[in-house]
Amino acid sequence: MSLPPAKMDGMPSRSPAAASSLDSLIGDLDDEQREAVQAPRGPVCVLAGAGTGKTRTITRRIAYLVAAGHVAPGQVLAVTFTSRAAGEMRARLRSLDEQGGNGAGTGAVQAMTFHAAARRQLQYFWPRVVGDTGWELLDSKFGVVAQAANRARIQASTDDVRDLAGEIEWAKASLISPEGYAAAVAEAGRDIPLDAAKIATVYAGYEALKARRDGTTLLDFDDLLLHTAGAIENDAAVANEFRDRYRCFVVDEYQDVTPLQQRVLDAWLGDRDDLTVVGDANQTIYSFTGATPNHLLNFSRRFPDASLVRLERDYRSTPQVVSLANRVISMARGRMAGSKLHLVGQRDAGPAPTFSEHPDEVAEATAVAKAIANLIQAGTSPAEIAILYRINAQSEVYEEALTAAGVAFQVRGGEGFFSRQEIRQALVALQRAADRIDAVGPELPPVIRELLEPLGLTAEEPQGVRARERWEALVALAELVEEEVAVRPGLDARALLAELRQRADARHPPVVQGVTLASLHAAKGLEWDAVFLVGLADGTLPISHALSRGADSEQVEEERRLLYVGITRARVHLALSWALARTPGGRQGRKPSRFLNGVAPQASSSDGPHKPRRQRGAAPRCRICNEPLNSSAAIMLRRCETCPSDLDEGLLARLKEWRLETSKEMKVPAYVVFTDNTLIAIAETLPGDEAALVAIPGIGARKLEQFGADVLALVKARQ
Ligand code: ATP
Ligand code: MG
Repeated sequence: MSLPPAKMDGMPSRSPAAASSLDSLIGDLDDEQREAVQAPRGPVCVLAGAGTGKTRTITRRIAYLVAAGHVAPGQVLAVTFTSRAAGEMRARLRSLDEQGGNGAGTGAVQAMTFHAAARRQLQYFWPRVVGDTGWELLDSKFGVVAQAANRARIQASTDDVRDLAGEIEWAKASLISPEGYAAAVAEAGRDIPLDAAKIATVYAGYEALKARRDGTTLLDFDDLLLHTAGAIENDAAVANEFRDRYRCFVVDEYQDVTPLQQRVLDAWLGDRDDLTVVGDANQTIYSFTGATPNHLLNFSRRFPDASLVRLERDYRSTPQVVSLANRVISMARGRMAGSKLHLVGQRDAGPAPTFSEHPDEVAEATAVAKAIANLIQAGTSPAEIAILYRINAQSEVYEEALTAAGVAFQVRGGEGFFSRQEIRQALVALQRAADRIDAVGPELPPVIRELLEPLGLTAEEPQGVRARERWEALVALAELVEEEVAVRPGLDARALLAELRQRADARHPPVVQGVTLASLHAAKGLEWDAVFLVGLADGTLPISHALSRGADSEQVEEERRLLYVGITRARVHLALSWALARTPGGRQGRKPSRFLNGVAPQASSSDGPHKPRRQRGAAPRCRICNEPLNSSAAIMLRRCETCPSDLDEGLLARLKEWRLETSKEMKVPAYVVFTDNTLIAIAETLPGDEAALVAIPGIGARKLEQFGADVLALVKARQ
């Protein structure tokens, strides 16, 4: 790989053709966009809200600088944070080139991610800076992190290793060493998977393991950036050669820059100032990876003679959508709120955004799928429609509803629900256990929950990004089981497995032109004609672990910005919705997102009085207060979970002891014998004979035959 010197074409004289190409580059821009595009070479900062044409402006500026002869195309480096953004930038530059007609050459501009640029440069400079010892790119940290954890005698599950790798990435992106890790975590109030000192030990061990015995070095993606900056900072010859090669730098979505990326950018620039940045501090939604809007907000302090342009006209969305975006972000607090911009919608008026409340998530998804089918029928292309949610596990119910409505879709930035690793593992576990599980109907959900426990379905929400994602998906599966049981009270484990398999198979294979399902994070920078923001319940957006940091915390503010990003993706149709309960028939204890207070009209029900989705059998009643029982645990106990329990604690302890011995003898997990709830029901109702015993949910003919005598003897023996 070589870094060929750029061809300098010299300053072309302005031919009439060139002049007309310049005009065509600015002809369809507004005054402020034009000001940014035509600003003299030197630092330029475009600080603007969503949909105001930042990305459009930055690509035009590159084309303009090239067409005006200020810089040769090969001397421009446009850096982005994702390869998707780099691809989009290249496509826009190529199309400007074709439109220009006179070969301005913007197609030759380098547009790539920080990592790709650094990798290329390092390959070229390495032999000169380091010498003969080679390096190898470490594509995935996983193996080395696992080894480091092992050496530090830390028992780490696969998810723990992933979360450890995430912490190492955050620390490196934030220029924090293993020694500084614990203090930095405390200062940032960071939510971490293990004890900070342990993580720091693994981090240090990981760094040490990358230096191999044979003298070669393993470099991870962050090292590529560190070494690139180091090579330029420490070697004047390298710096000169590099700086001769690239003369003009451009960064889109600059609010996403990490301290490490900024250091590379500074190394590239040296004491020059040909840097154009555009960004929107209100769209800072990646703080947890180390991204910080400070460099954007401090740009004119660092470059006092920078051209600072603010764009306010929103070309993407209707005034109705823009007005909602303005209202939501006007309530933001903290430093970023200081950069608040008031957007002015430029498009023709459109429909008002809708707000709808639903009894449960299934009803919400069904209503959304129906609205989407109507839009498609009325002529909107499915590719111009998106459903956006807070966490990936929310996709399941929408995949199901769209499948049922016959609408093709693609899940962006993640696989479909049934392709997720933990869900595939869960189905395998269910298949292995199905023949041993006697539970039927309402007895089934607690058994399934116990079965999923070793896969990560803990009672408490775990810490750590990956562990939490797995947990959320398993919770969604457990809820799906409850929902199935609610409509098919006779369901057993084998029938459940068949049902889940059938659902997985019925899912359409992903279709590129289908409706997009994506998390709010994955929707950044994109736009659709119709956007459905779903699951807007407090606790989901803002998400509960942000709320646990305090209602005024920076984490909650970042959640507010996520909603702002979501709203501003819509061109014309925008629908916001939430559900009062997760599963049909569940407790309707949820509230709409706090960010909608004073913004949404009084919660309105979209589908009239609350009707359960499908007719269910008569609900069993509490044996103490006679109220209908909703949750599966309550059905198992035959009383409300809140009603007083007349439990014989001594008996329960003996029953558990007996269960442990029995399960050991049978070499099966304890829940296969009886679940906790069944034992509690026995210790409460004290069955005196077989008839009383089989009346307890969770005890069928087979259990009676296997364990009836033992259990009745234990009950009888109680004092
Ligand atoms: P985001 O903050 O979401 O990244 P952005 O500021 O980068 O948004 P763009 O994606 O560049 O905005 O533009 C939003 C939409 O408005 C695009 O469809 C773009 O083509 C259109 N647009 C931008 N400027 C103008 C203009 N002057 N006239 C007409 N349409 C425009
Ligand atoms: Mg943009």
